[in-house]
Amino acid sequence: MTTQEGYSGKDGAPFGAGLQLQWEAEPASFPMANSDLLARSLAAVWHPCTQMKRHEALPLIPIARGDGVWLVDADGRRYLDAVSSWWVNLFGHGEPRIKAAIKAQLDELEHVMLAGFTHEPVVRLSERLGALSGLGHAFYGSDGASAVEIALKMAAHYWRNVGHPAKHRFVYLEGSYHGETAGALAVTDVPVFRDAYAPLIGQHFVAPSPDPRRALPGETADDVTDRAASRLEHLLARHHGEIAALIVEPLVQGAAGMAMYSPRYLQLARAACDRHQVLLIADEIAVGFGRSGEMFASRGAGVQPDLLCLSKGITGGFLPLACVLCSDKVFEAFYHDDVSRGFLHSHSYTGNPLACAAANAVLDIFESDNVIEANRARAERWDALFGPLRNHAHVTHFRRTGMIWAFDVTDAGAGFAQRYFAAALDQSLLVRPIGNTVYFMPPYTMLDDEIRLLADGALAALDAALASDGQTQDLPLA
Ligand SMILES: *Cc1c(COP(=O)(O)O)cnc(C)c1O
Repeated sequence: MTTQEGYSGKDGAPFGAGLQLQWEAEPASFPMANSDLLARSLAAVWHPCTQMKRHEALPLIPIARGDGVWLVDADGRRYLDAVSSWWVNLFGHGEPRIKAAIKAQLDELEHVMLAGFTHEPVVRLSERLGALSGLGHAFYGSDGASAVEIALKMAAHYWRNVGHPAKHRFVYLEGSYHGETAGALAVTDVPVFRDAYAPLIGQHFVAPSPDPRRALPGETADDVTDRAASRLEHLLARHHGEIAALIVEPLVQGAAGMAMYSPRYLQLARAACDRHQVLLIADEIAVGFGRSGEMFASRGAGVQPDLLCLSKGITGGFLPLACVLCSDKVFEAFYHDDVSRGFLHSHSYTGNPLACAAANAVLDIFESDNVIEANRARAERWDALFGPLRNHAHVTHFRRTGMIWAFDVTDAGAGFAQRYFAAALDQSLLVRPIGNTVYFMPPYTMLDDEIRLLADGALAALDAALASDGQTQDLPLA
């Protein structure tokens, strides 16, 4: 990552920062049965994005069950899930309609391989996603990173199939995050995730982020958009002969600290890609399914990508599923008598019927509950409830895109993310800052009263975290 005031620094690791940093209070407060579970977990489970040794000092939190927007630990302590469990639980935990859809599908067909076979849930889901996105061909994977791998391979193979095999490199944005597999890491600009694997990953091109917080002295947000777009234009003009695609997180760069940028950048980027015969990959793994305020952020901005990556919210947090949607133009370049021109990529669980049934239930909820409309009204009410937080003396760049709220904390001190995470837990909140950026990605179903709890608790946690500056030992990054 480039040097960025506000979200670089030692606790600037996206996701990871909070993850290894469980709270420090009362480490031995769990009853015997739970401490046994924690010990067994540490012995047998290698936890993601974590320096495991840190758990010598910091306890895991054993979650026993979910209850709507709350997580309940083994002692009955409740945590308001203000980050939708890593951005996946759109409608909270245990949404009854999604649960019912999975149960019904379980009685019919739990799985069948998708090569040579098909089934109703995957066909229905593909048709619906095609209608919503304007991209009529759906290829499935399991996690977000698998969708990114699929999109990158598809883009490069597309150019090979149409007679331009030299176009096999990618452009990604500063501060981008696209996942942890080798291909996805190669287009991810987060050194703490990337550096150990440098010899394993390909070299691509990085373009400036349109994040308005990157404004130079005297620049407006519009100027930042124009500058980023013109640098992209130059990069594509110079190197388009070897570039297959530009990959972007539309409107919000999540792991960069919820960098929210103008839809105009997407429009300019689309136009530049068209001028230089470069495909556009929209990674909407985080912002898809209403998180940006529209069903899909790129479409909301009036931009049609060639490839669209979806995952996270797609099953409402019930089952792993990812999807890459592509245009007719891309699909047709693979359609041929020659086998090797086909997309010979697969995962064992491609198009799993249970996961597709969950995703269909999610789309049903969007329709029956008019979620996108309802969210607009929610977001306005919630903005008002976050007012006191916005006005706090240490809060800057308070911002919102759709159903994502974020702000940066000034003079936060070293190790702010972990201090805030701990202070939030004391307020019964699950909030995991990224560096000095605090963000909320609440389940859409939170009640106004619960948002009030979140707003009050987040404010109290902010004061507590600022007051504890220097009192806790600054733990080294994972
Ligand atoms: C989370 C995320 C990914 C990776 O998805 P996984 O399911 O964690 O593999 C990729 N891109 C974006 C924008 C993400 O937020």
